[in-house]
Amino acid sequence: MQLTVLPGDGIGPEITSAALQVIEHVKRAFSLDLTIDVHDIGLAALQRTGTTLPPSVLEACRRADGVILGPVSTASYPARDQGGVNASAALRIELDLFANVRPSRTREGLQHWGRTPMDLVIVRENTEGFYADRNMYSGTGELMPTPDLALSIRRISAAASSRIARAAFELAAARRRHVTAVHKVNVLGVTEGLFLREVQSVARAHSDITYDEQLVDSMAALLVRDASRFDVIVTTNMFGDILSDEAAELSGSLGLGASINAGERHCMAQAQHGSAPDIQGQNKANPTSLILSSAMLLDWLGRRHRQENLRAAARLIEKSVDVVLNNPATRTADLGGPRSTTAFTFELCKEIDSRASR
Ligand code: NAD
Repeated sequence: MQLTVLPGDGIGPEITSAALQVIEHVKRAFSLDLTIDVHDIGLAALQRTGTTLPPSVLEACRRADGVILGPVSTASYPARDQGGVNASAALRIELDLFANVRPSRTREGLQHWGRTPMDLVIVRENTEGFYADRNMYSGTGELMPTPDLALSIRRISAAASSRIARAAFELAAARRRHVTAVHKVNVLGVTEGLFLREVQSVARAHSDITYDEQLVDSMAALLVRDASRFDVIVTTNMFGDILSDEAAELSGSLGLGASINAGERHCMAQAQHGSAPDIQGQNKANPTSLILSSAMLLDWLGRRHRQENLRAAARLIEKSVDVVLNNPATRTADLGGPRSTTAFTFELCKEIDSRASR
């Protein structure tokens, strides 16, 4: 099986290197048949090739069984016609990665910032919504009719709403069987109304799963007050983007938030956070998010190709991360610990080896 790895910008190369080390250790432990190719994207590729996403890299991703994408410094990119292509957006569209699956859970022994423990998954629609660079067939979803007037168009379709709802209910069926749709139908009656219509239709076909709805503003408060009441949350693109960062931080740190972008045929692991240029090159970043995202990718591949050893490798990574995070002496700086990125990764690989040999 082929994994294509794109380290990205900022802390991307540091946390990608950590994720690759972890994959090497589980590859050995479970004799996984994995081949890995690494390609430059982002500012490194821009200097060399004139674009932040060379077409050859996009093709490599299309051919791969799975992709691991490091964060990208999109805020520092030049305009698209000068080579600035957001790889995260482009790959989600080109590979039709419609479901952004973002779990957040609190962990034994690790301080969380919400009032209750949580174990939830935000399932975010990934291909339309307010994201102006990807929600039009031609042109962008942002317009400026005069110098003092700017407009943003949001696209919500029945097809995209229905398929993200199906993904959420399928996930809930394997968890605590509860789906909450998050919306803002009170002010965006037409678009949010269409989204809810499709989710409700999927809910009716899953009468064994509890279904309820929550306004996005009250959801932001409820995540702080009592996130324990939620299991799977399904929502549109931007609401999911914002709420998942909130949930990850409440669970302990943004640096813990794993995610995959999944479609019918492709899957891409991607950290929830950005490229953190403020700590770039300092060996300070917490690599957990990308490591757990890579574990989610292995699990997705294991389910798709019916290879139990890939799923077992994912479980071993999850368990080992819990153990290393449980010990204050082996945490990274964002969690108040003393460990660098490389020292944390060393501890984690040691834990993986020790558990694998039991
Ligand atoms: P950010 O997520 O990069 O950083 C926010 C804060 O969290 C910073 O203080 C950072 O140091 C900290 N942080 C983030 N990840 C961390 C980690 N793994 N370990 C420890 N601390 C961590 O958000 P930002 O500063 O708003 O954005 C920086 C750049 O990232 C921008 O160019 C933005 O466009 C881009 N971005 C990319 C993605 C992506 O690639 N998917 C997502 C969000 C932002």
